[in-house]
Amino acid sequence: LPRASRTLKGNKRRAVFDRLIVPKNGYHLPDPIRVLEPDLPTQPVGKRVWITTVILYEISISYEGKPQKNVYRIPFSDIVGDPVSEEKLNTGYEFTTVQGETLLVKWYAANQREDQGLIVHNKSATGSSWYEPNWGQIYGVGLEWIACDGTDQGTIWANRHIGHTNTVTNGSISESIYNKTAPPDHSLVAVRPGLMLGNPEPYRTLWLMGQELPMRVYPAIGPIGKGCIFGFNENVMKFLTVKPPVPPVLAFLGAGTARSDAVNVKWNKDELHEGYTRIGMQVLSGANLITRTNPSYPTDGSLALISNPTTLNHGGANLSSIYFADGTGEVRIRLLLLECDASGNPQYVLNCTETVWHWAAGSNTCPISQESCSGQLPYPVKVESACGGGGSPIQTPTDPTPPSQTSGYAYYCDGSVDPSSIDTSYWVGDRKLPPAAADYIQQQYGVTIDERFWEGRNGWLNLFNKLDMGTTYTRSVITPTDFHKFLFKTLKDLETGSGEMIDAPDWQSFKVWCERSGLSCLTDLQKASLFCSYRLGVPVNFFSSAANYLEGNVLDVLTDALVLLPRGIYDWIDFNDVVSDTGGAVTGAFASDIPVPDFKAFRSFVNFEPQALNFNIGAAKAHRPVDYVKLPGTQWGAVTNVNYSQYYLPNMTDANYKPYVAAEVGIHEIGHAVSYFGLDFYGQILHEMPEWLSISGWSPDAPSKSPSDVSAHLVKTRSASETGGMPKTDANKEAPVTDYGCFHPAEDFAEAYRMYILNPVFLEQKFPKKYAFMLDKVEPMFG
Ligand SMILES: [Zn+2]
Repeated sequence: LPRASRTLKGNKRRAVFDRLIVPKNGYHLPDPIRVLEPDLPTQPVGKRVWITTVILYEISISYEGKPQKNVYRIPFSDIVGDPVSEEKLNTGYEFTTVQGETLLVKWYAANQREDQGLIVHNKSATGSSWYEPNWGQIYGVGLEWIACDGTDQGTIWANRHIGHTNTVTNGSISESIYNKTAPPDHSLVAVRPGLMLGNPEPYRTLWLMGQELPMRVYPAIGPIGKGCIFGFNENVMKFLTVKPPVPPVLAFLGAGTARSDAVNVKWNKDELHEGYTRIGMQVLSGANLITRTNPSYPTDGSLALISNPTTLNHGGANLSSIYFADGTGEVRIRLLLLECDASGNPQYVLNCTETVWHWAAGSNTCPISQESCSGQLPYPVKVESACGGGGSPIQTPTDPTPPSQTSGYAYYCDGSVDPSSIDTSYWVGDRKLPPAAADYIQQQYGVTIDERFWEGRNGWLNLFNKLDMGTTYTRSVITPTDFHKFLFKTLKDLETGSGEMIDAPDWQSFKVWCERSGLSCLTDLQKASLFCSYRLGVPVNFFSSAANYLEGNVLDVLTDALVLLPRGIYDWIDFNDVVSDTGGAVTGAFASDIPVPDFKAFRSFVNFEPQALNFNIGAAKAHRPVDYVKLPGTQWGAVTNVNYSQYYLPNMTDANYKPYVAAEVGIHEIGHAVSYFGLDFYGQILHEMPEWLSISGWSPDAPSKSPSDVSAHLVKTRSASETGGMPKTDANKEAPVTDYGCFHPAEDFAEAYRMYILNPVFLEQKFPKKYAFMLDKVEPMFG
């Protein structure tokens, strides 16, 4: 896929530079990976339903362009009350998304059940831009429903826009329904592009929606500053009521007042009953006390149908009059609410009551009693399970663990992909050594670079071991296993757009995701490899010596920092104890490259040592920049009293700094690799360029000096407050960003690069020439 444009404004935190799957606007969008499901169900469910859960899909795009999905599952009773209450229906339910937006979710209780809907209103949204989020980063709204009799259930997704909300006052939303008959998928106002990092990218968002949402793609719509009211599939909605059910009524009116009673029937059926009804009457006993009826109905116990078929859910039947004889005893008359077909033939009994007149001698009025029906009924009873809104009578978990499912990554464990069928070719094409260089390392060192990734990687490690005796690179040589082949397949799939998104925002939830996605055969080290490889887009390998990286949120912090780096700087990352730390020097990380043009096929590799998590917070120079003085003839400098706290990065605290420090060390080292990459790109190592050397006033031969040669160090004896707020060397040049940067032009560059990646605002404001160098020279190398 083509790369998305990167902004050259320099602030990488805001730059959207796609790595894997994001097409540029105008690029023909590939078909979604996922087969879109129809909006279920396709037929009326025909029975009462409960809504048990409201599902909200939040999708955002991380800084490096990866989609991130959060699924909120809210018990429906939290939104409408349990039992349903007016107050809850009015005020709804509020929560904060991971994006930090406060969303108000509320049920829109329309008069027609089909027009009910769900309101999502972003209380945090302000502003007037079309691209301001007006109801959060919510791209999918769904309802889980279950039939009251438990025989049917499913999920329906919002498929139309039936209105919007205006304001929230005193917790109550004002609603505006401007098109409650909007057809499914109808976009009334605008497709909301989402993603506020950099340019709005509607194509990307829509494409991601198709990839990630298990539903019909429904573009979000709605004017700015207004919430959205979503409508759902009427095949479910017409059987749903969130109001308490209207109690069924079946009774005589006016009975028991005289020997000649004028009586009528009042009835009210279950409001969700579909179909025709009519009223039936039977005189069960006491017929000898009935002299006649008007109109004339049988008094022999047979069924009289006393109303016409109707689809209304309430009504009356005019029995008119019953004339009682002047005697003593009981008269029992049964009333039946009957379901019938369209031509009036009864099928079922929906409701049944028996009314008893208790006549006493000489009395012209009598008490009556209502009793339930007993004995043989003329038609079978059809039971309507009573369920209205609010909590379900069926115990459904409020947040059920998603069912175990085989993800698109199950091949790691289930044997569905033959590892020998995976093509791991990597050191080919422009990553293949020129024949002369390949011959040279073969003859000189006995090393061959295999075309396959892992075998070739071993070759490079063997070569480094020969070139640099001080480091035991061969500790990272591995015997490629099936896991390594699968890891390569994963990265290849992601690169070509056929990879599946992993629904886990961080390392801890990733481990849970593995368990329910068919990846429980992996060790934690392998899971960490997959997690980091997925996030960074290159193979990452964890060795047991570096297991301390798997604790807490270390991997989250580290990968969050490393993804700020552009792609293409390094070929892989290892986490392993490779360097033997002796003489008090501790190596936290290193990046290895071979700065010879013939070897440009190899970019670099990065190794994180377990010791990187042992440094103290003072090593976090990008997160908490300091001003310094560096006196002549000394090694390390000293911190001045200039206060740079306004430039501190807030995520890092005194308590959680360790992974941040490791990330800083790693990015410093990668900065060296970037500098050497200049040789491949410009034919000149970046820190040896005259443009770089002149910024801080390095002498032309400074790159050839040893960093331990104190006489070649730059000198800065004044604090920034003594030089107009801008850090200056004693030669009035822009100073290196740290005292360590004064040791050597290469360290100067690596320190500045780390600042550029992690704290570009500080670099831009205090070291504008170094910042400009990053924009002018470094950015084009990866653009
Ligand atoms: Zn360095």
